[in-house]
Amino acid sequence: MRLENKVIMVTGAGQGIGRALAVRFAEEGAHVIVEDRQDNAKAEQTLDLVHKAGADGCVVSGDIGRVDADRDVVEQGVRQMGRIDVLVNNAGVERRAEFLDVTEEDYELVLGVNLKGVFFVTQAFARHLKDTGRAGRIVNISSVHEELPFPHFASYCASKGGLKMLMRNLAVELAPLNIAVNNIAPGAIKTPINASLMSQPDKVETLLANIPMNRLGEPSDVAAAAVFLASDEAAYVTGTTLFVDGGLLWNYHEQ
Ligand code: BGC
Repeated sequence: MRLENKVIMVTGAGQGIGRALAVRFAEEGAHVIVEDRQDNAKAEQTLDLVHKAGADGCVVSGDIGRVDADRDVVEQGVRQMGRIDVLVNNAGVERRAEFLDVTEEDYELVLGVNLKGVFFVTQAFARHLKDTGRAGRIVNISSVHEELPFPHFASYCASKGGLKMLMRNLAVELAPLNIAVNNIAPGAIKTPINASLMSQPDKVETLLANIPMNRLGEPSDVAAAAVFLASDEAAYVTGTTLFVDGGLLWNYHEQ
């Protein structure tokens, strides 16, 4: 097992990629702190799967993107599990709109969860590591859209582009504390964020034409990369993005 006895917190772990990560980490011997929004029963289902995989864990909740909540989820995790070794910033949202129509509310939601939330959850986690004098790892679930334009998703692209530079900056700034920081950039993965796309066969066909490997990704494809970046095997990897996209990044055309 590659993550034996590590305590890993996964934000947004009630569904999609976050749930797949939580379960895979548990299978690799980690204890998992399952974070999700308040009143979200799905987090408990993820925790059941973690337990079924033979691991310990707990649920913590808060609305990522509000600074008090960002600090509180880290505190809740430390209180329940004693410590956190690895933080996976997975919670993310997207809103489709033409640029001219983007509302302040949607902008704030997307930037709030995808960038501000990562910023302050990570700050609380880095303080926890510094206070306890321990090394740690941070993995952000970004997107191919940290590089690639995505028309009608300007706020999402702004958040992921920001996440790329936040990761690079923290890789340098937190290295003296022995904290590694990396991004995973998934392409089109079969998760609820793509539910509407997946229900429209013509759109799926157009998308597949852009993916050299000719299939959507599975959450397990992302989980495999996350196990590596969360593990000690990645000890010397920091400041980089690992793309898990079937080749989409270098072969993408908007219709
Ligand atoms: C977005 C998906 C999109 C995929 C590929 C992801 O980051 O969340 O909506 O299908 O990128 O463009």
